[in-house]
Amino acid sequence: MSTVTQGGPSLPQERRVVTEIPGPRSRELFARKQSAVPPGIGTTLPVFVTRAGGGVVVDADGNSLIDFGSGIAVTSVGNAAPRVVERVRRQAADFTHTCFMVTPYESYVQVAERLNAITPGDHAKRTFLLNSGAEAVENAVKVARHATGRPAVVVFDHGYHGRTLLTMSLTAKNMPYKHRFGPFAPEVYRVPLAYPFRWPTGPEHCAEEAAAQVIDQIGTQIGAENVAAVLIEPIAGEGGFIEPAKGFLPRIAEYCRSEGIVLIADEVQTGFARTGHLFACEDEGIVPDIIVTAKGIAGGLPLAAVTGRAELLDRVHVGGLGGTYGGNPLACEAALGVLETIEAEDLVGKARRIGEVMLPRLRALAGRAPIVGDVRGRGAMTAIELVVPGTKEPHPTAAAEIARRCHAEGLLVLTAGTYGNVLRFLPPLVMPEHLLQEALEILEKAVCEV
Ligand SMILES: *Cc1c(COP(=O)(O)O)cnc(C)c1O
Repeated sequence: MSTVTQGGPSLPQERRVVTEIPGPRSRELFARKQSAVPPGIGTTLPVFVTRAGGGVVVDADGNSLIDFGSGIAVTSVGNAAPRVVERVRRQAADFTHTCFMVTPYESYVQVAERLNAITPGDHAKRTFLLNSGAEAVENAVKVARHATGRPAVVVFDHGYHGRTLLTMSLTAKNMPYKHRFGPFAPEVYRVPLAYPFRWPTGPEHCAEEAAAQVIDQIGTQIGAENVAAVLIEPIAGEGGFIEPAKGFLPRIAEYCRSEGIVLIADEVQTGFARTGHLFACEDEGIVPDIIVTAKGIAGGLPLAAVTGRAELLDRVHVGGLGGTYGGNPLACEAALGVLETIEAEDLVGKARRIGEVMLPRLRALAGRAPIVGDVRGRGAMTAIELVVPGTKEPHPTAAAEIARRCHAEGLLVLTAGTYGNVLRFLPPLVMPEHLLQEALEILEKAVCEV
Protein backbone atom coordinates (compact mmCIF):
# COMPACT_ATOMS: atom_id res chain seq x y z
CA MET A 1 0.00 0.00 0.00
CA SER A 2 1.25 3.50 -0.76
CA THR A 3 2.45 5.95 1.89
CA VAL A 4 -0.04 8.79 1.31
CA THR A 5 -1.29 9.80 4.75
CA GLN A 6 -3.92 12.35 3.77
CA GLY A 7 -7.35 12.12 5.31
CA GLY A 8 -5.76 10.53 8.38
CA PRO A 9 -3.16 7.76 8.56
CA SER A 10 -5.79 5.06 8.34
CA LEU A 11 -7.25 6.12 4.98
CA PRO A 12 -6.13 3.31 2.68
CA GLN A 13 -5.30 4.27 -0.88
CA GLU A 14 -7.56 1.68 -2.45
CA ARG A 15 -10.75 1.35 -4.45
CA ARG A 16 -13.36 -0.46 -2.39
CA VAL A 17 -16.98 -0.90 -3.44
CA VAL A 18 -19.03 -2.43 -0.64
CA THR A 19 -22.59 -1.37 -1.59
CA GLU A 20 -24.28 -0.31 -4.78
CA ILE A 21 -23.33 3.26 -5.61
CA PRO A 22 -24.96 5.29 -4.18
CA GLY A 23 -25.49 3.08 -1.13
CA PRO A 24 -28.41 3.20 1.33
CA ARG A 25 -26.95 5.86 3.65
CA SER A 26 -26.11 8.18 0.71
CA ARG A 27 -29.58 7.64 -0.78
CA GLU A 28 -31.15 8.64 2.52
CA LEU A 29 -29.01 11.81 2.67
CA PHE A 30 -29.78 12.57 -0.96
CA ALA A 31 -33.51 12.43 -0.26
CA ARG A 32 -32.95 15.06 2.45
CA LYS A 33 -30.89 17.14 0.03
CA GLN A 34 -33.77 17.01 -2.46
CA SER A 35 -36.16 18.50 0.04
CA ALA A 36 -33.78 21.09 1.56
CA VAL A 37 -31.73 22.32 -1.44
CA PRO A 38 -33.11 23.55 -4.78
CA PRO A 39 -32.59 21.27 -7.79
CA GLY A 40 -30.65 24.03 -9.57
CA ILE A 41 -27.72 22.87 -7.44
CA GLY A 42 -27.00 19.69 -9.40
CA THR A 43 -25.16 16.53 -8.32
CA THR A 44 -22.66 14.62 -10.47
CA LEU A 45 -22.59 11.55 -8.23
CA PRO A 46 -24.93 11.42 -5.21
CA VAL A 47 -22.56 9.76 -2.73
CA PHE A 48 -22.11 11.70 0.49
CA VAL A 49 -18.48 12.09 1.48
CA THR A 50 -17.15 11.44 4.96
CA ARG A 51 -13.39 11.52 4.29
CA ALA A 52 -11.03 12.08 1.39
CA GLY A 53 -7.29 12.19 0.77
CA GLY A 54 -4.54 11.19 -1.61
CA GLY A 55 -6.42 9.71 -4.55
CA VAL A 56 -9.64 8.52 -2.89
CA VAL A 57 -13.00 9.79 -1.68
CA VAL A 58 -14.77 7.72 0.99
CA ASP A 59 -18.55 7.82 1.27
CA ALA A 60 -21.09 7.39 4.05
CA ASP A 61 -21.58 3.72 3.17
CA GLY A 62 -17.87 2.92 3.40
CA ASN A 63 -17.17 2.87 -0.34
CA SER A 64 -13.75 4.19 -1.36
CA LEU A 65 -13.83 5.78 -4.82
CA ILE A 66 -10.88 6.68 -7.02
CA ASP A 67 -11.03 10.44 -7.52
CA PHE A 68 -10.67 11.66 -11.12
CA GLY A 69 -12.32 15.00 -10.32
CA SER A 70 -10.38 16.67 -7.46
CA GLY A 71 -13.54 18.64 -6.66
CA ILE A 72 -13.21 20.15 -10.17
CA ALA A 73 -9.45 20.68 -10.27
CA VAL A 74 -9.29 22.07 -6.73
CA THR A 75 -7.61 19.47 -4.51
CA SER A 76 -4.54 19.09 -6.71
CA VAL A 77 -2.37 18.64 -3.58
CA GLY A 78 -4.86 16.04 -2.37
CA ASN A 79 -7.69 16.41 0.06
CA ALA A 80 -6.48 17.10 3.61
CA ALA A 81 -2.88 17.67 2.47
CA PRO A 82 -0.81 17.71 5.69
CA ARG A 83 0.86 21.12 5.11
CA VAL A 84 -2.53 22.69 4.37
CA VAL A 85 -4.27 21.06 7.33
CA GLU A 86 -1.57 22.03 9.83
CA ARG A 87 -1.43 25.68 8.74
CA VAL A 88 -5.23 26.04 8.74
CA ARG A 89 -5.52 24.35 12.13
CA ARG A 90 -2.99 26.77 13.67
CA GLN A 91 -4.56 29.82 12.02
CA ALA A 92 -8.08 28.87 13.14
CA ALA A 93 -6.85 28.81 16.73
CA ASP A 94 -5.17 32.25 16.38
CA PHE A 95 -7.84 34.28 14.53
CA THR A 96 -10.32 33.52 11.75
CA HIS A 97 -10.97 36.97 10.27
CA THR A 98 -10.22 40.64 10.66
CA CYS A 99 -10.96 41.80 7.08
CA PHE A 100 -7.70 42.58 5.29
CA MET A 101 -9.05 46.04 4.36
CA VAL A 102 -9.60 46.87 8.06
CA THR A 103 -6.55 45.44 9.81
CA PRO A 104 -4.17 43.42 7.61
CA TYR A 105 -2.13 40.30 8.38
CA GLU A 106 1.09 38.89 6.94
CA SER A 107 -0.16 35.72 5.22
CA TYR A 108 -2.13 37.74 2.62
CA VAL A 109 1.03 39.67 1.76
CA GLN A 110 3.02 36.42 1.57
CA VAL A 111 0.52 34.91 -0.88
CA ALA A 112 0.70 38.08 -3.00
CA GLU A 113 4.51 38.02 -2.97
CA ARG A 114 4.59 34.35 -3.93
CA LEU A 115 2.11 34.81 -6.80
CA ASN A 116 3.97 37.86 -8.09
CA ALA A 117 7.15 35.77 -8.13
CA ILE A 118 5.86 32.54 -9.71
CA THR A 119 3.43 33.77 -12.40
CA PRO A 120 4.77 34.24 -15.96
CA GLY A 121 6.84 37.36 -16.70
CA ASP A 122 9.52 39.15 -14.68
CA HIS A 123 7.87 42.61 -14.78
CA ALA A 124 6.71 44.36 -11.58
CA LYS A 125 3.42 42.78 -10.42
CA ARG A 126 0.70 43.23 -7.84
CA THR A 127 -1.82 40.68 -6.51
CA PHE A 128 -5.12 41.04 -4.70
CA LEU A 129 -7.26 38.24 -3.30
CA LEU A 130 -10.92 37.32 -3.60
CA ASN A 131 -13.23 34.43 -2.81
CA SER A 132 -14.06 32.69 -6.09
CA GLY A 133 -12.92 32.35 -9.66
CA ALA A 134 -15.90 34.34 -10.91
CA GLU A 135 -15.22 37.18 -8.50
CA ALA A 136 -11.58 37.29 -9.60
CA VAL A 137 -12.52 37.34 -13.31
CA GLU A 138 -14.91 40.23 -12.64
CA ASN A 139 -12.18 42.11 -10.83
CA ALA A 140 -9.68 41.53 -13.63
CA VAL A 141 -12.19 43.08 -16.05
CA LYS A 142 -12.78 46.00 -13.66
CA VAL A 143 -9.04 46.69 -13.57
CA ALA A 144 -8.66 46.41 -17.37
CA ARG A 145 -11.56 48.79 -17.99
CA HIS A 146 -10.33 51.26 -15.41
CA ALA A 147 -6.76 51.22 -16.70
CA THR A 148 -7.65 51.51 -20.41
CA GLY A 149 -10.81 53.62 -20.18
CA ARG A 150 -12.32 51.27 -22.80
CA PRO A 151 -15.58 49.30 -22.44
CA ALA A 152 -15.40 46.10 -24.53
CA VAL A 153 -14.34 42.63 -23.42
CA VAL A 154 -13.55 39.94 -26.00
CA VAL A 155 -14.15 36.29 -25.09
CA PHE A 156 -14.05 33.01 -27.02
CA ASP A 157 -16.34 30.26 -28.19
CA HIS A 158 -16.45 27.43 -25.59
CA GLY A 159 -15.24 29.79 -22.85
CA TYR A 160 -16.34 29.43 -19.23
CA HIS A 161 -15.72 32.15 -16.67
CA GLY A 162 -18.33 31.75 -13.91
CA ARG A 163 -21.93 32.19 -12.86
CA THR A 164 -22.27 35.83 -11.73
CA LEU A 165 -23.92 38.35 -14.06
CA LEU A 166 -20.73 39.50 -15.76
CA THR A 167 -18.99 36.11 -15.82
CA MET A 168 -22.16 34.33 -17.02
CA SER A 169 -22.26 36.92 -19.80
CA LEU A 170 -18.61 36.10 -20.57
CA THR A 171 -19.40 32.37 -20.65
CA ALA A 172 -20.30 30.81 -24.01
CA LYS A 173 -22.67 27.95 -23.22
CA ASN A 174 -26.38 28.61 -22.78
CA MET A 175 -27.57 25.46 -21.01
CA PRO A 176 -27.24 25.25 -18.04
CA TYR A 177 -25.26 28.42 -17.30
CA LYS A 178 -27.25 31.21 -18.97
CA HIS A 179 -30.66 29.84 -19.88
CA ARG A 180 -33.41 32.26 -18.73
CA PHE A 181 -30.93 34.21 -16.58
CA GLY A 182 -30.67 37.21 -18.91
CA PRO A 183 -30.53 40.03 -19.77
CA PHE A 184 -26.76 39.82 -19.79
CA ALA A 185 -24.05 42.40 -19.18
CA PRO A 186 -23.26 44.62 -22.18
CA GLU A 187 -20.01 45.09 -24.12
CA VAL A 188 -19.13 41.39 -24.25
CA TYR A 189 -18.06 40.13 -27.71
CA ARG A 190 -17.41 36.51 -28.67
CA VAL A 191 -14.87 35.34 -31.24
CA PRO A 192 -13.78 31.90 -32.54
CA LEU A 193 -11.42 29.61 -30.62
CA ALA A 194 -8.76 27.57 -32.44
CA TYR A 195 -10.37 24.17 -31.72
CA PRO A 196 -8.28 21.74 -33.75
CA PHE A 197 -10.66 18.74 -33.71
CA ARG A 198 -13.60 20.78 -35.01
CA TRP A 199 -11.88 23.35 -37.22
CA PRO A 200 -13.65 23.22 -40.64
CA THR A 201 -10.49 23.17 -42.76
CA GLY A 202 -8.62 20.77 -40.47
CA PRO A 203 -6.18 21.10 -37.58
CA GLU A 204 -3.16 22.19 -39.71
CA HIS A 205 -4.74 25.51 -40.64
CA CYS A 206 -6.56 26.03 -37.37
CA ALA A 207 -4.21 28.36 -35.46
CA GLU A 208 -3.54 30.72 -38.33
CA GLU A 209 -7.12 30.92 -39.64
CA ALA A 210 -8.71 31.25 -36.21
CA ALA A 211 -6.31 34.04 -35.19
CA ALA A 212 -7.00 35.85 -38.47
CA GLN A 213 -10.76 35.62 -37.85
CA VAL A 214 -10.38 36.90 -34.29
CA ILE A 215 -8.31 39.88 -35.38
CA ASP A 216 -10.65 40.64 -38.29
CA GLN A 217 -13.74 40.48 -36.09
CA ILE A 218 -12.24 42.71 -33.42
CA GLY A 219 -11.17 45.24 -36.04
CA THR A 220 -14.40 45.32 -38.01
CA GLN A 221 -17.08 44.64 -35.38
CA ILE A 222 -15.73 46.32 -32.23
CA GLY A 223 -12.67 48.43 -33.10
CA ALA A 224 -9.47 47.56 -31.24
CA GLU A 225 -9.42 51.01 -29.63
CA ASN A 226 -12.69 50.13 -27.83
CA VAL A 227 -11.39 46.87 -26.37
CA ALA A 228 -10.28 46.86 -22.74
CA ALA A 229 -9.43 43.18 -22.53
CA VAL A 230 -9.17 39.89 -24.34
CA LEU A 231 -10.01 37.16 -21.84
CA ILE A 232 -9.01 33.56 -22.57
CA GLU A 233 -8.50 30.23 -20.85
CA PRO A 234 -5.16 28.83 -22.09
CA ILE A 235 -6.94 25.46 -22.17
CA ALA A 236 -10.75 25.79 -22.26
CA GLY A 237 -12.00 23.89 -19.19
CA GLU A 238 -15.78 23.46 -18.96
CA GLY A 239 -15.88 23.91 -22.75
CA GLY A 240 -14.24 20.49 -23.13
CA PHE A 241 -10.51 20.70 -22.32
CA ILE A 242 -9.83 22.30 -25.67
CA GLU A 243 -6.17 23.09 -26.14
CA PRO A 244 -6.01 25.88 -28.74
CA ALA A 245 -3.89 24.92 -31.78
CA LYS A 246 -0.23 25.81 -31.17
CA GLY A 247 0.56 29.28 -32.41
CA PHE A 248 -2.90 30.70 -31.72
CA LEU A 249 -2.21 32.07 -28.23
CA PRO A 250 1.12 33.72 -29.19
CA ARG A 251 -0.57 35.41 -32.17
CA ILE A 252 -3.41 36.73 -29.97
CA ALA A 253 -0.92 37.90 -27.33
CA GLU A 254 1.10 39.78 -29.97
CA TYR A 255 -2.05 41.41 -31.34
CA CYS A 256 -3.14 42.55 -27.85
CA ARG A 257 0.28 44.04 -27.19
CA SER A 258 0.24 45.97 -30.48
CA GLU A 259 -3.25 47.40 -29.80
CA GLY A 260 -2.86 48.25 -26.11
CA ILE A 261 -5.45 45.60 -25.16
CA VAL A 262 -5.05 43.95 -21.75
CA LEU A 263 -4.57 40.19 -22.17
CA ILE A 264 -6.22 38.36 -19.27
CA ALA A 265 -5.45 34.65 -18.86
CA ASP A 266 -8.15 32.80 -16.93
CA GLU A 267 -6.03 30.09 -15.30
CA VAL A 268 -8.68 29.25 -12.73
CA GLN A 269 -8.81 25.61 -13.88
CA THR A 270 -5.37 25.22 -15.52
CA GLY A 271 -3.27 26.80 -12.76
CA PHE A 272 -1.01 25.45 -10.01
CA ALA A 273 0.84 22.57 -11.67
CA ARG A 274 -2.26 20.93 -13.16
CA THR A 275 -1.02 20.87 -16.77
CA GLY A 276 2.62 19.96 -16.05
CA HIS A 277 3.60 23.61 -15.81
CA LEU A 278 2.89 25.82 -12.82
CA PHE A 279 0.67 27.80 -15.23
CA ALA A 280 -0.59 26.64 -18.63
CA CYS A 281 0.54 29.89 -20.31
CA GLU A 282 4.13 28.77 -19.84
CA ASP A 283 3.70 26.03 -22.45
CA GLU A 284 4.00 28.56 -25.31
CA GLY A 285 5.77 31.24 -23.30
CA ILE A 286 2.73 33.53 -23.09
CA VAL A 287 3.06 36.43 -20.64
CA PRO A 288 -0.45 37.73 -19.90
CA ASP A 289 -0.92 41.24 -18.51
CA ILE A 290 -3.27 39.85 -15.87
CA ILE A 291 -3.59 36.24 -14.70
CA VAL A 292 -6.62 35.04 -12.75
CA THR A 293 -6.28 32.02 -10.46
CA ALA A 294 -8.55 30.15 -8.04
CA LYS A 295 -9.53 26.44 -7.85
CA GLY A 296 -6.15 24.74 -7.20
CA ILE A 297 -4.80 27.67 -5.19
CA ALA A 298 -5.76 26.74 -1.63
CA GLY A 299 -6.59 23.03 -1.41
CA GLY A 300 -10.34 23.68 -1.26
CA LEU A 301 -10.52 26.75 0.95
CA PRO A 302 -12.28 29.59 -0.90
CA LEU A 303 -9.60 31.79 -2.43
CA ALA A 304 -8.93 33.43 -5.79
CA ALA A 305 -6.37 35.91 -7.03
CA VAL A 306 -5.82 38.62 -9.61
CA THR A 307 -2.15 39.05 -10.44
CA GLY A 308 -1.05 41.61 -12.99
CA ARG A 309 1.23 44.34 -14.17
CA ALA A 310 1.87 46.87 -11.41
CA GLU A 311 1.22 49.77 -13.81
CA LEU A 312 -2.30 48.45 -14.50
CA LEU A 313 -3.29 47.43 -10.98
CA ASP A 314 -1.81 50.55 -9.37
CA ARG A 315 -4.13 52.83 -11.36
CA VAL A 316 -7.26 51.90 -9.42
CA HIS A 317 -8.10 54.43 -6.66
CA VAL A 318 -7.87 53.53 -2.97
CA GLY A 319 -10.92 51.51 -1.89
CA GLY A 320 -11.88 50.64 -5.49
CA LEU A 321 -11.09 46.94 -5.03
CA GLY A 322 -11.76 44.46 -2.24
CA GLY A 323 -14.45 42.54 -0.39
CA THR A 324 -15.23 41.44 3.16
CA TYR A 325 -13.75 37.95 3.01
CA GLY A 326 -11.24 38.27 0.15
CA GLY A 327 -7.95 36.72 1.25
CA ASN A 328 -9.37 35.28 4.45
CA PRO A 329 -6.49 34.25 6.77
CA LEU A 330 -7.45 30.55 6.78
CA ALA A 331 -7.50 30.51 2.97
CA CYS A 332 -4.16 32.38 2.78
CA GLU A 333 -2.52 29.85 5.11
CA ALA A 334 -3.97 27.07 2.97
CA ALA A 335 -2.51 28.67 -0.18
CA LEU A 336 0.92 28.89 1.43
CA GLY A 337 0.60 25.19 2.34
CA VAL A 338 -0.38 24.39 -1.26
CA LEU A 339 2.61 26.25 -2.71
CA GLU A 340 4.97 24.49 -0.25
CA THR A 341 3.45 21.13 -1.18
CA ILE A 342 3.78 21.76 -4.94
CA GLU A 343 7.47 22.47 -4.46
CA ALA A 344 8.32 19.84 -1.83
CA GLU A 345 6.53 17.03 -3.67
CA ASP A 346 7.45 18.15 -7.21
CA LEU A 347 3.81 18.24 -8.27
CA VAL A 348 4.73 19.85 -11.59
CA GLY A 349 6.75 16.72 -12.34
CA LYS A 350 3.97 14.50 -10.96
CA ALA A 351 1.40 16.17 -13.24
CA ARG A 352 3.65 15.49 -16.24
CA ARG A 353 4.09 11.90 -15.17
CA ILE A 354 0.29 11.50 -14.93
CA GLY A 355 0.01 12.76 -18.50
CA GLU A 356 2.73 10.36 -19.62
CA VAL A 357 0.80 7.46 -18.11
CA MET A 358 -2.65 8.54 -19.27
CA LEU A 359 -2.27 10.00 -22.76
CA PRO A 360 -0.69 6.93 -24.45
CA ARG A 361 -3.34 4.66 -22.92
CA LEU A 362 -6.15 7.00 -23.95
CA ARG A 363 -4.73 7.19 -27.49
CA ALA A 364 -4.51 3.41 -27.66
CA LEU A 365 -8.13 3.28 -26.49
CA ALA A 366 -9.15 5.70 -29.26
CA GLY A 367 -7.46 3.30 -31.73
CA ARG A 368 -9.68 0.43 -30.55
CA ALA A 369 -12.87 2.37 -29.86
CA PRO A 370 -14.12 4.54 -32.76
CA ILE A 371 -16.53 6.23 -30.33
CA VAL A 372 -13.48 8.16 -29.04
CA GLY A 373 -13.07 10.94 -31.60
CA ASP A 374 -10.31 12.91 -29.91
CA VAL A 375 -7.83 12.54 -27.05
CA ARG A 376 -6.29 15.70 -25.69
CA GLY A 377 -4.91 17.64 -22.78
CA ARG A 378 -1.66 18.16 -20.95
CA GLY A 379 -0.34 16.70 -17.71
CA ALA A 380 -3.13 15.86 -15.28
CA MET A 381 -5.77 17.71 -17.32
CA THR A 382 -6.79 15.23 -20.03
CA ALA A 383 -10.01 14.34 -21.81
CA ILE A 384 -11.65 12.21 -24.46
CA GLU A 385 -14.31 13.56 -26.81
CA LEU A 386 -17.01 11.06 -27.76
CA VAL A 387 -18.57 10.98 -31.21
CA VAL A 388 -20.91 8.86 -33.27
CA PRO A 389 -18.40 6.40 -34.78
CA GLY A 390 -17.12 7.39 -38.21
CA THR A 391 -18.34 11.00 -37.82
CA LYS A 392 -17.60 14.04 -35.69
CA GLU A 393 -21.18 14.22 -34.47
CA PRO A 394 -21.09 14.77 -30.68
CA HIS A 395 -22.27 11.79 -28.61
CA PRO A 396 -23.34 13.14 -25.20
CA THR A 397 -25.41 10.08 -24.25
CA ALA A 398 -22.30 7.89 -24.63
CA ALA A 399 -20.36 10.25 -22.34
CA ALA A 400 -23.14 10.07 -19.74
CA GLU A 401 -23.34 6.26 -19.98
CA ILE A 402 -19.57 5.81 -19.63
CA ALA A 403 -19.56 8.15 -16.62
CA ARG A 404 -22.43 6.14 -15.09
CA ARG A 405 -20.54 2.86 -15.52
CA CYS A 406 -17.34 4.33 -14.06
CA HIS A 407 -19.28 5.63 -11.05
CA ALA A 408 -20.86 2.23 -10.46
CA GLU A 409 -17.36 0.69 -10.41
CA GLY A 410 -16.04 3.25 -7.91
CA LEU A 411 -14.32 5.71 -10.26
CA LEU A 412 -15.45 9.32 -10.01
CA VAL A 413 -15.24 11.02 -13.44
CA LEU A 414 -16.68 14.32 -14.69
CA THR A 415 -18.18 15.25 -18.04
CA ALA A 416 -17.68 18.57 -19.83
CA GLY A 417 -17.93 20.18 -23.24
CA THR A 418 -20.15 22.54 -25.15
CA TYR A 419 -21.96 19.44 -26.45
CA GLY A 420 -21.71 17.51 -23.15
CA ASN A 421 -19.76 14.78 -24.97
CA VAL A 422 -16.40 15.06 -23.22
CA LEU A 423 -15.11 12.99 -20.30
CA ARG A 424 -12.48 14.94 -18.41
CA PHE A 425 -9.91 13.56 -16.03
CA LEU A 426 -8.53 15.63 -13.16
CA PRO A 427 -6.84 13.32 -10.66
CA PRO A 428 -5.19 14.83 -7.59
CA LEU A 429 -1.51 15.25 -8.50
CA VAL A 430 -0.57 13.13 -5.47
CA MET A 431 -2.58 10.12 -6.65
CA PRO A 432 -0.56 6.90 -6.21
CA GLU A 433 0.21 5.33 -9.58
CA HIS A 434 -1.50 2.00 -8.83
CA LEU A 435 -4.82 3.90 -8.48
CA LEU A 436 -4.19 5.73 -11.74
CA GLN A 437 -3.64 2.43 -13.56
CA GLU A 438 -6.69 0.84 -11.94
CA ALA A 439 -8.83 3.84 -12.90
CA LEU A 440 -7.68 3.60 -16.53
CA GLU A 441 -8.66 -0.08 -16.63
CA ILE A 442 -12.16 0.76 -15.40
CA LEU A 443 -12.46 3.58 -17.92
CA GLU A 444 -11.20 1.45 -20.83
CA LYS A 445 -13.71 -1.28 -19.99
CA ALA A 446 -16.58 1.22 -19.74
CA VAL A 447 -15.70 2.83 -23.09
CA CYS A 448 -15.40 -0.52 -24.87
CA GLU A 449 -18.74 -1.72 -23.48
CA VAL A 450 -20.67 1.39 -24.55
C1 LIG B 1 -14.46 27.30 -12.34
C2 LIG B 1 -14.00 28.37 -13.24
C3 LIG B 1 -14.35 29.71 -13.03
C4 LIG B 1 -15.28 30.13 -11.92
O1 LIG B 1 -14.72 29.86 -10.66
P1 LIG B 1 -15.72 29.82 -9.38
O2 LIG B 1 -14.77 29.67 -8.23
O3 LIG B 1 -16.61 28.65 -9.58
O4 LIG B 1 -16.45 31.10 -9.37
C5 LIG B 1 -13.84 30.67 -13.88
N1 LIG B 1 -13.02 30.33 -14.89
C6 LIG B 1 -12.67 29.05 -15.14
C7 LIG B 1 -11.75 28.74 -16.26
C8 LIG B 1 -13.15 28.02 -14.33
O5 LIG B 1 -12.82 26.75 -14.57
